Amino acid sequence: MTLRPETISAKALPSSTASDQVFADRAIIPPIQLATTYARDAAYQLVGPGYARDENPTPVHAERVIATLEGGAEALAFASGMAAATAVFRAACRPGDRIVAPLAGYYNLRGWLERFCAQWGLDLQVVDMTDLAAVRAAIRPGTRVVWVESPANPTWEVTDLAAVGALARAAGALFAVDSTSATPVHCKPLALGADLVMHSATKFLGGHSDVLAGVLVTARTDATWAAIRQLRHDEGACLGPFEAYLLLRGLRTLFVRVERSSATAAALAARLQPLCTVLYPGLPSHPQHAIAAAQMQRGFGSMLAIRTGGGAERALAVIRKLRLWVPATSLGGVESLVEHRYTVEGANTPTPQDLLRLAVGIEHVEDLFDDLAQALA
Ligand SMILES: *Cc1c(COP(=O)(O)O)cnc(C)c1O
Repeated sequence: MTLRPETISAKALPSSTASDQVFADRAIIPPIQLATTYARDAAYQLVGPGYARDENPTPVHAERVIATLEGGAEALAFASGMAAATAVFRAACRPGDRIVAPLAGYYNLRGWLERFCAQWGLDLQVVDMTDLAAVRAAIRPGTRVVWVESPANPTWEVTDLAAVGALARAAGALFAVDSTSATPVHCKPLALGADLVMHSATKFLGGHSDVLAGVLVTARTDATWAAIRQLRHDEGACLGPFEAYLLLRGLRTLFVRVERSSATAAALAARLQPLCTVLYPGLPSHPQHAIAAAQMQRGFGSMLAIRTGGGAERALAVIRKLRLWVPATSLGGVESLVEHRYTVEGANTPTPQDLLRLAVGIEHVEDLFDDLAQALA
């Protein structure tokens, strides 16, 4: 029987047809296996894993669960989301290649891409991924990677994944999607034509702000995937077993957490509209709402942004009045966080000064709304 994603997640099953009800020793939860190496048999052959830099069974288990949830062939877990993202470019690109990357997206990856491309002689094209004509103009033969993030930090623009994927494929480029904010609950980029999906598992997949992890999922096990696997093996940015255990623990509640926080985000977005400008893909007023409705399921995610007006000063004053929303960088935990991205990103950022990023957790919607309403009043 083919199992549904909620069941795969709740039971941390490594495949959608898994029939085993229990793990080793009849444990009902996946074990942590701490061994760094495994004994060989009498013929000096390996029976299971060998030296466990990247073969430890606990991270391998987490990889299989996430690959199954994304509908991919295989997954690789990394020590952080940045380790996962940078591995793609480092394994796939050579000097002279072109990289097409999004204007809206995780700020630190943009900074790293600028340094990486300057150092190694790559041609970085940063484009507005919501403008298909601009994307078409930027992708040309010699383009090696097209990277997008959807919905994208910190304005939650949505990229038409099928359309950008078709442009990338026509040019022979690898199409990779940072789906951290969408999670496998809301979007399946591989089904829309992506070659690779990346998650900062530090966020929703882990879900409790207590583990740093990253993951890549591939549509197929091709030469690029082999190069990424080799790079992780050689450089060792692997996920440790304790972290993988925490990730598996978080994955088992992924659907209930994300469905709740995204329903709360949708309610907050609607109710905040009379008070301020709201950026949320689920609002009909959002410029890419139709695309989001077509390529996302079960809601529009747990991330939104508000524009307070009155520049950085007013945005920071609103944060100071909040009692429940914690001023902190990050997202995807069970607790709601507020972030002034302009302060964090510095003067060269395109992020508006009056923008507050809201990462919605699983607290009661009325408490979260009341706190925002009194702070904005
Ligand atoms: C946090 C984040 C990353 C980086 O992940 P780390 O686990 O912090 O290395 C990349 N992309 C997005 C969208 C993120 O939110």
